Amino acid sequence: MSEETKHLKTEGISRRNVFSAVALASVAASQAGAAPAETKFEPLPGFKFDIENQTGWQGPAGSAKEATVAEFPISQSIAGVSMRLKPGAMRELHWHSLAAEWAYMLEGTCRGTVVTPNGQSEMADFGPGDTWYFPRGHGHALQATSPNGCHFLLGFDNGHFSEYGTFSITDWIATAPPAVVARSLGISASAVAQFPKKEVYIGPGRVPPPGTENLRDGAMQPSQFSHKYRLDHQPPRVFPGGREFVVSSKEFPLQTTLTAVRMDLQPGAMQELHWHPHADEWHYYVKGRARVGVFGSHGRTRTEEFGPGHVGFIQQGYGHYIEQIGDEPTEILILFNSGEYQAISLASWLGGNPSTLLEDNFSLSKSAVEQLPKRDRGILAKG
Ligand code: MN
Ligand code: MN
Repeated sequence: MSEETKHLKTEGISRRNVFSAVALASVAASQAGAAPAETKFEPLPGFKFDIENQTGWQGPAGSAKEATVAEFPISQSIAGVSMRLKPGAMRELHWHSLAAEWAYMLEGTCRGTVVTPNGQSEMADFGPGDTWYFPRGHGHALQATSPNGCHFLLGFDNGHFSEYGTFSITDWIATAPPAVVARSLGISASAVAQFPKKEVYIGPGRVPPPGTENLRDGAMQPSQFSHKYRLDHQPPRVFPGGREFVVSSKEFPLQTTLTAVRMDLQPGAMQELHWHPHADEWHYYVKGRARVGVFGSHGRTRTEEFGPGHVGFIQQGYGHYIEQIGDEPTEILILFNSGEYQAISLASWLGGNPSTLLEDNFSLSKSAVEQLPKRDRGILAKG
């Protein structure tokens, strides 16, 4: 054993060092004239989490269930929260220091307000299929407007973020010295004493009236960049086995750190083998079921089955496919942690190479290579 491999053995081989360790081990083996040492790679980690089966945060006005790195360790770059608000209930005024917030309205309607660092403000109503994007640090609040309350899926561009631990207005006012609050807001000490003594987080409220409400400062400039995007109104990309509604920063300029997709798969459909060069892929299963197979190099694969309320995570650059299962169509909300969408399919890769190279690479005849696809196939219909 060389000094280098001994050293690695003593130090332990971290994941980061696996590649250099392998290279050193094979150099050592070939120098000794022996067969390359069999290297053990860690098996691929689990990439499925049942977010809706959690208790999460429960209060009289609503609930929140999280999938952060604390619950779902592989999901380093994206966190998800399933939030429900009772009629009139509000997610109080707050901001997130660590992450931008994306959301997709699943059921019901809500009204959101958001203030931007340039002193502008936007108020908008959101219904099923609508999304919002609040850049990191922008102050916002939400209120359920429909008689049955609402349910929305939140996505954040940082897995280490926690919805429970964000910056709420009541928490700040309750913990700052009262004299400072009084002086800062230009109000009396007795007026400060009227504020809540602790964070409200999700609290009861009155259902706001229909139509636009006036902002307190009627002269405030409306936000010049909308925080709202109606994903279900985006013309979908249609394939034989399903369709995709895609929104990246191209369609929604404010949404610089995420791309969102709603994918509908017909029974028996399959999304072809592909990978994303520069983004992780996060899933939330709205309806139906699917099997996802991931390829993690060195002979490693892992397959998981998903159904309603499950969350999935595919690491950047890992090969994968999605196979619809069951008789009901499958609907998946997908996030990528980049505002630009990128993908490469196995099919188009094969089209971008000369036949002779593929014949040699696969030890296949020319006629066998002629059968291979040349372009993206997208979502395939039931075979
Ligand atoms: Mn928020
Ligand atoms: Mn993908």
